[in-house]
Amino acid sequence: MTEMILLKLGELVLKGANRHTFEDKLKSNIARRLRPLGKFRVYTRQSTTYVEPLSDACDMDAAYEAMKHVFGVVGISRAKACEKTREAMLETARSYLGDKLSAAHTFKVESKRADKSFPMTSIALSQWVGGELDDLYSNLQVDVHQPELTVHLEVRDYAAFVHADPEPGAGGLPVGTSGRALSLLSGGIDSPVASWMMAKRGVALEMVHFYSYPYTSPEAREKVLELAKLLTPWCGRLTVHVVPFTHIQEELRRSCPEDYFTLLMRRFMMRIAEGVARRTGCRAVVTGESLGQVASQTMDAMAVTGAVTALPIFRPLVGMDKEEAVRIARKIGTFETSILPYEDCCTVFTPRHPRTRPRLEDVEAIEEPLDMEGLVKEALEGIERVQVGG
Ligand code: ATP
Ligand code: MG
Repeated sequence: MTEMILLKLGELVLKGANRHTFEDKLKSNIARRLRPLGKFRVYTRQSTTYVEPLSDACDMDAAYEAMKHVFGVVGISRAKACEKTREAMLETARSYLGDKLSAAHTFKVESKRADKSFPMTSIALSQWVGGELDDLYSNLQVDVHQPELTVHLEVRDYAAFVHADPEPGAGGLPVGTSGRALSLLSGGIDSPVASWMMAKRGVALEMVHFYSYPYTSPEAREKVLELAKLLTPWCGRLTVHVVPFTHIQEELRRSCPEDYFTLLMRRFMMRIAEGVARRTGCRAVVTGESLGQVASQTMDAMAVTGAVTALPIFRPLVGMDKEEAVRIARKIGTFETSILPYEDCCTVFTPRHPRTRPRLEDVEAIEEPLDMEGLVKEALEGIERVQVGG
């Protein structure tokens, strides 16, 4: 095998006794992403994980792309294997990193030896290869403090490896190391971003979507499933619980004051979410709410919505401006789908004068005559589960 991928591990190396749990989770997340791309060997030594193709059929370009989406990895590079001689390492640096060496002005060579029987010290190897490259490329000057390019040499047991500086990885913690949460996924910009942010902190996700057929179209439902699918390179395979919400909305419209409509709807969403969470082992709920963005996202409105559940509600966008959420949505690839113009269940029944400072007692009084239990039960029983991603 002549090429492999090196992953530099992030924060998880700080986790002391839990380190092995974190490393194992990361390794199984990596293995799952690589499965469709060929047979690979994955192993960790000293906060670097090595991804080694076991046959020429492995798709290394796709594997490299896939590894950029793995949370828990802070840096990623492709390395070329060669014979364990200084001459072979020099030749490999020239052929493998030729474009980078021609483009840079300053550089240094950094070496590591896992094989202590290699006849040169790391420093001597760096000096020799660095000196040769300096002679060969008139554009290059050695700068050991702030080089534009670092040529990395690693002498391992069975081969040597040459690579350039790592690219940034996805960061965060391996998905699954922080528990499981239920994310409320609408068709908007914010909730996919909120989901991604929690996955980044190591949370495994289940998705729930409230669907108001025939007020919202089948395309609106497809759009949400597509958003979930776009998140799977980051989160792994996802289950979307599609909840029929029409009956609840019709009941609310029939019997409740219009200005409380959105709030009452959101309280129903939370009650149903709690039911789904209980059935799926989720210990928190995630939403894309941002303080003050709309009437239902004021501090008082959030308190009234949150009052129906004892589960923690994570709102990672709470302190973000819209532009910041949009920037992340573009980066993670959900933006273009989010802005497709299909209506959401919340926009179908929007009150003209929504309450921004609701009081919990008032809301509870309005809900009093509703068949709360029956409506929630009916919605939970009507759930359709859709799996997305590999
Ligand atoms: P988004 O861009 O995520 O739709 P938004 O700014 O449009 O958010 P709202 O429509 O008030 O805000 O929704 C706030 C949050 O409630 C969403 O981020 C999402 O987590 C949840 N939510 C809203 N509508 C739905 C829905 N139909 N299904 C599931 N969750 C929803
Ligand atoms: Mg929305």
